[in-house]
Amino acid sequence: LDMVLANASILTFDAFDRFVSRGHLIIRKDKIADIIAGGDIPPGPATGCVVDAANHLVLPGFVNCHTHCGETFFRGLCDDGTLFPWLQQTYEISGRKTVEERRASYEQGCREMVRSGVTCLCDSSEPLGVMDIIQRSGLRYIAAPMLIERMPWGQALPESASRLESRIGLLSEFSGRQRTSVMLGAHAIYSCSAELLGRAKRYCDAEGIIFCIHLAESADEVDFSRKHFGTSPVSYLHRLGLLDGNTLAFHCVHFDEPELELLRERGVSVVHCPIANLKLYSGVAPVADLIRSGVPVGLGTDGVMTNNSYNFFEELKFAVLLARLNKAAGRAELTAHEAARAATIEGARVLGLGHEIGSIEVGKKADLQMIRLPRLKRLDREVAESFVVFGAGPQDVAAVICDGELILDARSPCGTAERAAQER
Ligand SMILES: [Zn+2]
Repeated sequence: LDMVLANASILTFDAFDRFVSRGHLIIRKDKIADIIAGGDIPPGPATGCVVDAANHLVLPGFVNCHTHCGETFFRGLCDDGTLFPWLQQTYEISGRKTVEERRASYEQGCREMVRSGVTCLCDSSEPLGVMDIIQRSGLRYIAAPMLIERMPWGQALPESASRLESRIGLLSEFSGRQRTSVMLGAHAIYSCSAELLGRAKRYCDAEGIIFCIHLAESADEVDFSRKHFGTSPVSYLHRLGLLDGNTLAFHCVHFDEPELELLRERGVSVVHCPIANLKLYSGVAPVADLIRSGVPVGLGTDGVMTNNSYNFFEELKFAVLLARLNKAAGRAELTAHEAARAATIEGARVLGLGHEIGSIEVGKKADLQMIRLPRLKRLDREVAESFVVFGAGPQDVAAVICDGELILDARSPCGTAERAAQER
């Protein structure tokens, strides 16, 4: 399908952070074919449609770098407690899901994410029997199921969750499909043995896929690590030789200066989940320190049992506002611009998709969202980013496009602009 988003304001998040105050974005098939600043709408394609995007902001779809979509159905059933008590309760509530519960979770979760401007999710639930739902949502999907052997209090988990072969089987279902890719996770240092962590990482390296893990998330984890390994979580993973450019760490709230340097030097990428960290009493991650020292950082909602929403706009706003608390601790603050980049191009980078998605550039995939703009005294890049980070919400998302396909249309579909194109 060919499409023109006409008369749009465009936040590109390209290398120059180019902002187009009024222009036209041309989509051919699944890709961005042209970005024309100002002037008339170019002669339309013979087939396809022209969407009048006047008074709208077009920006890349958000990249939700860490979530557990399979939990959606269990929302509100485990709202208190720090990580370890939360894990215990959560496991009892949602550890064994029926197929119907799993399908209901994905159905609802994918829908909410699209409405929130998300076009890509990295999902660490077990996507069993839900392939059709994910594909129907139109979202770009990264299956990142996790190995887990035991709970921190010693309880062993079903063998299927701890067997590398069963996870590999799960991944094979998703590799090579349109809009999908895979990575493999190990749940955490307190729930997987050193041996299993090593095997998972070696498998990922050999297959050229990203290895992901929940890391340095909470004080519970730090205490566990000191007690059992005699050191902190980041240092422990380094000791095992598992920190490098192929490692993606979720959360990373608790680390010191030398460990920050270690993360940077080893090329580790990080996913910041500000709301989940706050809800589980985990703390405020020094996210701006990571970004300023050159660690690639994306944003994630985490699952709804720690959030309890997939509203990605909240994630941006919390990230910036929470980081203001860091100022008192002498740490760097996060700017709205940095948060907006983390939600788009930097998120794409940490998932290994920076060459394909995350910014509006000719030749990249057309993964886009269109947001209604309120009346504004001035509109430039700063004001546009400010609206996205502080002012906008799912109610402002007018359309979402993934892989060149309109997957959400909260306007009248192609409306009068389409008729205008046909008349030409
Ligand atoms: Zn998680």
